[in-house]
Amino acid sequence: MRPVNEIIVHCTATPEGRTVAVAEIDAWHRARGWSGCGYHRIIGLLGERWQGRALDKIGAHCEGHNSATIGIVYVGGLTRDGRDAKDTRTTAQRIALHEELIDLRDRFNIQKVSGHNEYANKACPCFDASAEYDHLFEGRSKGFTPVLDRVLRRGHVGNDVAVWIDRLMDWRKVTGSTVILRAGSVFDQAVEMETLAFQRARGIVIDGKAGPQTYSEMERALLGQKPFQAMEAA
Ligand SMILES: [Zn+2]
Repeated sequence: MRPVNEIIVHCTATPEGRTVAVAEIDAWHRARGWSGCGYHRIIGLLGERWQGRALDKIGAHCEGHNSATIGIVYVGGLTRDGRDAKDTRTTAQRIALHEELIDLRDRFNIQKVSGHNEYANKACPCFDASAEYDHLFEGRSKGFTPVLDRVLRRGHVGNDVAVWIDRLMDWRKVTGSTVILRAGSVFDQAVEMETLAFQRARGIVIDGKAGPQTYSEMERALLGQKPFQAMEAA
């Protein structure tokens, strides 16, 4: 298992009462060009606790906070007309989410639960996850500092960027295609375009930035391994 210390809670942003299956979430994320479901655990309307992406794989659910976290999503988060954010958790979902958090806390020594809205300008998950669940951590969350993913992006300059450019060049060589970039240490538009091409080719989140998932996928690519799959083939 990769080292994790935090759980981030999400909602599917679907209308109250609407059933959503894991396969549907997987399809949404595939439609964005990703390799599949970005969350690790899914809480269904009836309190089902479903497996999404395997826990030992880095999720794709909260920018800058994926490497050391587990992503849980509950089905719901919008009013019935789909217009407004709302905490739509059913009683069964509240119970299931609570049990899920305790299980994960004990399995992986998790220190804190946070809501997606604590790290992004979003309503998700439409309730204050820290306020509701801090008591589960008996002071463990005091002084907690989230692990920030190291993410290289356009505008960055330095040795890390130089290494990333080398990897992108190696990837072109390994795949037998034309090497487009030249060695350097500036993350400019050309580097961003190559990063996007790499991400598209490997089916991971396409954002033109080099974060933990993109790095680990590059390792797989350079070892000649097939692209990452979020969900094991059925
Ligand atoms: Zn979210």
